[in-house]
Amino acid sequence: MFVSVFHQRFISFCNENRRRRALELQDVLQKEAIEVGNRWDEARKSLVSLYPERERKDTVARALADPYFNLTMLQKMNIEQFAAEPQVAELSDQQLAKIAGDHLLEWATIFLSIRRDIHHLNKFGQVSGMKLLGSSSERLPEPGWCNYCGGCCEIRGGPPEFAGAFSPPKSWLRYFSGDASKYQRFCPFLFEYFAAGKFFCAIYRVKPNCCWVFEREECEFLQNDLARKRVALRLLG
Ligand code: SF4
Ligand code: SF4
Repeated sequence: MFVSVFHQRFISFCNENRRRRALELQDVLQKEAIEVGNRWDEARKSLVSLYPERERKDTVARALADPYFNLTMLQKMNIEQFAAEPQVAELSDQQLAKIAGDHLLEWATIFLSIRRDIHHLNKFGQVSGMKLLGSSSERLPEPGWCNYCGGCCEIRGGPPEFAGAFSPPKSWLRYFSGDASKYQRFCPFLFEYFAAGKFFCAIYRVKPNCCWVFEREECEFLQNDLARKRVALRLLG
């Protein structure tokens, strides 16, 4: 099967990123960390070099370097599952690669915009529930019944109604409603923790009304539904 240069480099970066971030979460020998860091840097440059303009390169490079950029979900939803969606069945591999490249740039732009907003609004963790300063010493809060699978945030948009006294930046209304990106497959406020496949809401404390009504019962229903779909897929395969 033909695999585009973009897809190859994207997957390669995702793999190197997982290695690097895993080391950041552990105590490791300095020598190993330097070698992994060098490979990560090469993979990032290689992917970024596919963008022609300096500004675009810079945007993608900065998002890829952020430990909360949600690469695992992008890989799953916008690369692997996207290619299997019926409305794109007629597209060539090159066209799919072009869409994937454009979407990575768009998603990086939205992510950096949200990161900037959170930096200004979240001085004491009052928006996120975490400080989100990029340090691996800040761990995710104890999960309780939620295991940070991110399944409930795989949405193409929702009603952007924020409750209470919090007044979100105007851009957040577009981001949450899904109007900012044609290829949105999950919520842009869903961040990933150090490429560990753990997904958390970056605006947990001020999230929209519709997110507050998703409770344990809805979660269990979703998990059971997903489990059924996985079994069905295995049987079909
Ligand atoms: S689906 Fe349930 S376990 Fe997964 S992130 Fe949502 S609340 Fe947490
Ligand atoms: S705002 Fe937060 S809880 Fe709501 S869908 Fe987005 S990431 Fe999930």
